[in-house]
Amino acid sequence: MDTIGLQTKIDHFGNVIGRMAGVENDAPALVIGSHIDSQPYGGRYDGALGVIGALEVLESLYEQGITPNIPIVVIAFADEEGSRFNKGLFGVRGMLDLLEEGELERQDKTGMTRRKALIEFGCDPSKFEECLIDTSKIAAFLELHIEQGPVLEAKEEPIGIVTGLWMTVEMEGPGSVPMAMILFI
Ligand SMILES: [Zn+2]
Repeated sequence: MDTIGLQTKIDHFGNVIGRMAGVENDAPALVIGSHIDSQPYGGRYDGALGVIGALEVLESLYEQGITPNIPIVVIAFADEEGSRFNKGLFGVRGMLDLLEEGELERQDKTGMTRRKALIEFGCDPSKFEECLIDTSKIAAFLELHIEQGPVLEAKEEPIGIVTGLWMTVEMEGPGSVPMAMILFI
């Protein structure tokens, strides 16, 4: 994230966040992301594909020197699967102020609480409030994710199919020359 010009941080929930500034930098952002933990049947592309895909988009913009009209934020959400503390979507629920009572006291198999694990990782649960996301500052959220089973494919249900691409091209130049003239020159 640092090498493609993003402003980066790890918030106190453990979410990894990168922000590309936009031309209208105070406008609501396009948020793209997924998670980088997984579970035994998650498959090779679970979560990570959505994060790598988002970074690929931003890397392409960066390499071509394009500043998007609105900011674009990539998020690798912390502990989506809940494998360790048996309660999933921790990072995203944290950002949305949807954590439940006593959640930080849940223990893993060794008896370590989530609170202690977060602190050991460098997070500070007393600063959660600073890390809440203002949903009015989100224009849209995109997540690229594989189907982790054969259901949609078996039903031949198409999802996420791109039906069109729009692009405005502005050309600047010194006046016009009729095509016929070009042909005769
Ligand atoms: Zn997933």
